[in-house]
Amino acid sequence: MELSFTTFRINCTHPFGISRSTHDYYDIVYVYLKSEGFVGRGESAPSARYNESTKNIIDILEGGISLPEALTDPIKFSNHVLPQAKSLKALEVALSMAILDLWCQKEGISICEYFGANPEKMPKTSFTISIGDLNLIPEKISEAKPYNILKIKLGIGEKQDKEIMNAIRAETDTLIRVDANEGWDLETGIKMCHWLADQNVEFVEQPFKSTNLKDTAILRKQSPLPLIADENSINSNDIPEIYGIFDGINIKLMKCGNLFEAIKMVKMAREREMKIMLGCMIESSIGITAAAHLSPLVDYADLDGNLLINNDPYSGVTIKNGRLVLPNKSGLGLSLSSKDKNLI
Ligand SMILES: [Mg+2]
Repeated sequence: MELSFTTFRINCTHPFGISRSTHDYYDIVYVYLKSEGFVGRGESAPSARYNESTKNIIDILEGGISLPEALTDPIKFSNHVLPQAKSLKALEVALSMAILDLWCQKEGISICEYFGANPEKMPKTSFTISIGDLNLIPEKISEAKPYNILKIKLGIGEKQDKEIMNAIRAETDTLIRVDANEGWDLETGIKMCHWLADQNVEFVEQPFKSTNLKDTAILRKQSPLPLIADENSINSNDIPEIYGIFDGINIKLMKCGNLFEAIKMVKMAREREMKIMLGCMIESSIGITAAAHLSPLVDYADLDGNLLINNDPYSGVTIKNGRLVLPNKSGLGLSLSSKDKNLI
């Protein structure tokens, strides 16, 4: 068995702006696990919000990862390998994806089947309109036509947020999910949730800083819209603390660190009757396809990271009538669509 890795720069179709940052590109890391003619693939899309970087990840990989001799059990194999990511969750999940991709290809089953999810129940995904030049909104809305649900990034202040919403509503009346990315204070959050409730908005994600659960609890009592935790929902340890304060959680593989942990979050949220969204970073089709295999288990999918870049080197999950469609192959079901010699 052989582990290899490479960095790759994914370029955003439009500068990707949220309340705290804007990016033209992201440097990601691909991890490959080769054995018996199969290649298991994983993707690491680190986020500065969680103090992770491509350099941290490469440093650990260059230091060497010890692998068991054979992949005879993906859980035992994961228990040996994943702690070597030293709690860098974006690296841990790349290794987790690669292990399960390899295992499921050998077994001739999809990752979706491995986790007992029903591929007949794939959800629709939202498509994100990031913060940026208001003049680009008609073009962005036109690009979003294949998708039935929009995710709108807000959180830069009441006046600007209303300008963004008004510019979008001038173009479309489709269902909207709002993500404030921790950008509001209590007064703005209360005003915006009431104002958005008349705008065909389904819910509001992460209104306040993750450290401000006190105001989140106050807002939840007054908000006509459900509140979904993202920066407050990193892994399963967070769920007991935010239960009763948020209506639901946003699970992202890059935050929670491995696919088994994501499944644990689904189970814990279900036990508490919390809503579940499956989200993503800006990622290519390896990471998005891995999440898509779990998407029949959740209420909302926000798996559009690969749709917001213009040089995705892989193909995997696709979209039909706004709905995610898994590839009809074992493992993650990926194909390499780039001629880049560093990629496999
Ligand atoms: Mg979010």
